[in-house]
Amino acid sequence: MGKILIIGAGGVGTVVVHKIAQNAAFFTEIVLASRTKSKCDAIAADVEKRYGVTIQTARVDADNVQELVTLFNMYKPKLVVNVALPYQDLTIMDACLESGVNYLDTANYEPKDEAHFEYSWQWAYQDRFKKAGLTAILGCGFDPGVTSVFTAYAAKHYFKEIHYLDIVDCNAGNHGKAFATNFNPEINIREVSQRGKYYENGKWVETEPHEIHKPLNYPEIGAKESYVIYHEELESLVKNFPTLKRARFWMTFGQEYLTHLRVIQNIGMARIDEVEYNGVKIVPIQFLKTVLPNPGDLGANYTGWTSIGCRISGTGKDNKPHTYYIYNNCSHEDSYRETGTQAVSYTTGVPAAVGALMFMTKQWGGAGVFNVEEFNPNPFLTELARQGLAWNEIFDGDLEM
Ligand code: NDP
Repeated sequence: MGKILIIGAGGVGTVVVHKIAQNAAFFTEIVLASRTKSKCDAIAADVEKRYGVTIQTARVDADNVQELVTLFNMYKPKLVVNVALPYQDLTIMDACLESGVNYLDTANYEPKDEAHFEYSWQWAYQDRFKKAGLTAILGCGFDPGVTSVFTAYAAKHYFKEIHYLDIVDCNAGNHGKAFATNFNPEINIREVSQRGKYYENGKWVETEPHEIHKPLNYPEIGAKESYVIYHEELESLVKNFPTLKRARFWMTFGQEYLTHLRVIQNIGMARIDEVEYNGVKIVPIQFLKTVLPNPGDLGANYTGWTSIGCRISGTGKDNKPHTYYIYNNCSHEDSYRETGTQAVSYTTGVPAAVGALMFMTKQWGGAGVFNVEEFNPNPFLTELARQGLAWNEIFDGDLEM
């Protein structure tokens, strides 16, 4: 038991607050803080109406360590859940160390001026968190997050050695807009437009953006064109599961989406450097975010499913070759009914809340900085299914890889 403070009042923050409120018995107080306090107040009002749970709200600029420290010292939370943007990971971790607060996030640090993400910046906090006796839980969304726990679960229960891992992320939903991103547009466009990269035989292999693709079949959905892109959990998974010979991440994109993305890049709207417009300095991709649909508002007309999982092969406990596919399918309509958001926010926010529950109930913890696959996967997956994300397993099927 203890207080929880959530930072970020976007689509993911909305889901985290709903789920924490549904499990309010585990938390002595719930606080939601973000840059725009009115967004926190709107979420708090909705949650109060639905569950009769009071959420305190506050304004904070999470780029500013001193503001964060003041906020943390005022509320004294046991755990901070960071669902603001990856740019704020390090300032929030710094403030956690200064105030003696534990930390959880869903995306690894990215500098604002470089479309590049890797764990090194956050892993560098290992000694400081250890020394302070604090826990930092990194990447506790769906991917990274559940996909990493799925991999740990497979390694623990079914395989002596895992050799091939393909994380497959399909959004077969339709939001009815010509172009929209399912989470923060700036972060999303930076992620999907970068060069592809996967791990093979001890090395990272780089590709052109979207160079490798093929149709993959998703349960209850069917075939969808899927593209190899680089995704952050590959970095920690190949380190924590050294028997891996190859690890790749596949994501589905529709042709309309890819065409818009190409145009956005070709006309310079994906630029992350400053340009001068009418005497004011603006960053084109940040301006683009202000005119694109808000991912948190896509839910109302969203139909269809997401399907995210891990396709794994290797040597089983019986020393024979085996394949294993573990996945979750999530409905956009159901996510909207429950929380007012679409399934991409839902599948990220629910695992973050489950991670917070794991920490509060002492099933996950310890001093230091951890990726989620380092913890016991069993209680997390049991709770995940209970909290709305049921998962399925297929043994020795055709992985199409
Ligand atoms: P949104 O853009 O919808 O929300 C981000 C929120 O953070 C907004 O409320 C925003 O405030 C707030 N924020 C931004 N900058 C600051 C700041 N300096 N100080 C305080 N608050 C700030 O994003 P999403 O909800 O879609 O995504 C949230 C996070 O989840 C991202 O880090 C994203 O990368 C991650 N994610 C992880 C996934 C996974 O599976 N692991 C999948 C999808 C997303 P304001 O409203 O004022 O702009």
